[in-house]
Amino acid sequence: SKKPVRVAVTGAAGQIGYALLFRIASGEMLGKDQPVILQLLEIPDEKAQKALKGVMMELEDCAFPLLAGMEAHGDPMTGFKDTDYALLVGARPRGPGMERADLLAANAQIFTAQGKALNAVASRDVKVLVVGNPANTNAYIAMKSAPDLKRENFTAMLRLDHNRAASQIAAKTGKPVASIRKLAVWGNHSPTMYADYRFATIDGASVKDMINDQVWNKDVFLPTVGKRGAAIIEARGLSSAASAANAAIDHMRDWALGTNGEWVTMGVPSNGEYGIPKDVMFGFPVTTEGGQYKIVEGLPIDEFSQACIDKTLAELTGEQDGVKHLL
Ligand code: NDP
Repeated sequence: SKKPVRVAVTGAAGQIGYALLFRIASGEMLGKDQPVILQLLEIPDEKAQKALKGVMMELEDCAFPLLAGMEAHGDPMTGFKDTDYALLVGARPRGPGMERADLLAANAQIFTAQGKALNAVASRDVKVLVVGNPANTNAYIAMKSAPDLKRENFTAMLRLDHNRAASQIAAKTGKPVASIRKLAVWGNHSPTMYADYRFATIDGASVKDMINDQVWNKDVFLPTVGKRGAAIIEARGLSSAASAANAAIDHMRDWALGTNGEWVTMGVPSNGEYGIPKDVMFGFPVTTEGGQYKIVEGLPIDEFSQACIDKTLAELTGEQDGVKHLL
């Protein structure tokens, strides 16, 4: 049987953590033959650590055959020791009256410390997914704080936007969500993201031709996907957690186990593809194989798409410029 791998999760006692850990431990992320050791991180605060103990009691009570070990940590320097997969979920939420710059600064501090800790103690091949918002910029900060690790192993979660877009297209076309291929989401995990179905197909037919409605694309589809998080808060009184956790599972599973040529969306550091400046943590369509992802290149970008990409890029470079002095 396989040797256990070490999976670190920060913000482990939060609501996304609660929807995530049980699925990792059951084998939904890395495969039903892959034992895992969970390295659970929470802020050192007594209340958070106590809540984490409660989650660990429940994990024990599931008696998951693949759960080979479990640790509670309050310090990333110990929590990330030999970590193979790191899911950085915990982040500083925007408090009442908090300015954007304060939010960026508070998170810059968290993700600088976590990047340094990964750099110092994690596996040299650690794969990192940042979920905590602002996810792209937090991933950028962690990457910049970990110069000895592979820059391409730092990624941000765009998969929830991708899955939301797929579901909207399935509803619009009346086709099963699993039949949709070649969907892409460009840019920032924020309402500026650009979900792009120009290349998408269902049973070989063009989704763009099936829908054939640019007004729907612009005025219904893109705002629906972009503002979905706010719509869920409005309906549920709480932010999306299960769907965010599900997207994190999808992202890591596809990265680790491969997509068999299918496109998925990941936020990854640019190498200059599509004119996105190097290192900007940007949502791109990718395929994955053997634990490596590859950006899908050479797609034509029309005028409308270029304007959408420029807008989300401008937001991201603005965020990055806002934290440069903190790195
Ligand atoms: P959640 O588990 O609901 O959310 C965690 C993070 O995921 C937030 O930054 C949230 O962003 C982000 N996120 C990204 N995509 C989504 C999405 N689609 N829907 C919802 N959230 C999304 O937060 P909780 O407050 O329940 O738990 C956070 C935990 O993290 C707490 O237990 C806290 O103690 C811990 N924490 C750890 C820190 C650290 O590691 N140093 C710092 C701060 C907190 P958004 O805020 O925009 O909703």
